[in-house]
Amino acid sequence: MHRLRALLIVTPLILISCVPSGHRPPPVRRPVPVRPAPARPAYDAAARRQCLSDLSADGARYTLLPDRVFAGGCSAIGTVQLSDIGMPVSNLGAMTCPLADAFTRWTRDATQKAAIAWLDSPVVKIESFGTYSCRPVNGVEGNRLSEHGLSNAVDISGFVLANGRRITVLNDWNGPDQYARNFLRAVHDAGCRRFHVVLGPDANAFHRNHLHFDMGRGPYCR
Ligand SMILES: [Zn+2]
Repeated sequence: MHRLRALLIVTPLILISCVPSGHRPPPVRRPVPVRPAPARPAYDAAARRQCLSDLSADGARYTLLPDRVFAGGCSAIGTVQLSDIGMPVSNLGAMTCPLADAFTRWTRDATQKAAIAWLDSPVVKIESFGTYSCRPVNGVEGNRLSEHGLSNAVDISGFVLANGRRITVLNDWNGPDQYARNFLRAVHDAGCRRFHVVLGPDANAFHRNHLHFDMGRGPYCR
């Protein structure tokens, strides 16, 4: 009975969390079976404290989120809600601390350096498709659970510059402006030095409109 009651309570939360927002890639409108995620090293209390300390030192403001475990192997364990990393980022939800810290440093260092180098204008806003989403890899039934289901991944779709220009992965990765192409490849490659797994338009068609960054098993950079 207790299990049933717990399921009844968490199911609406999952449904809410899985509702696609904005231009999210292939939507998943119903629960999709997934293979269990492989076991990973324990993320203990000391590691959590160290990560939160690093996150503060890197200039991020955040709130701690309560640990939550959902059906289908999905969870938000040891996660934070970033509230200020120096510029607005749309659609950020629960992120594991290591993901939040890598993302903060990538935003602060890599994106600005690349924007100044290639586009002569700093980034003032980053657009994302979100973080937590309980679904299999690429939204394909039967695939293992996506790192998004563990709050351990973020999808970046675009950048707004101080001069008003908007660069998107969808339009500019293979677009006519070589400088915009160089900028996107620079932030992609910088992601490969900070995140465990990076997937972009060259990985597969599922990623034609965003850069996927996660802190799962890697390294993998494509
Ligand atoms: Zn993703």
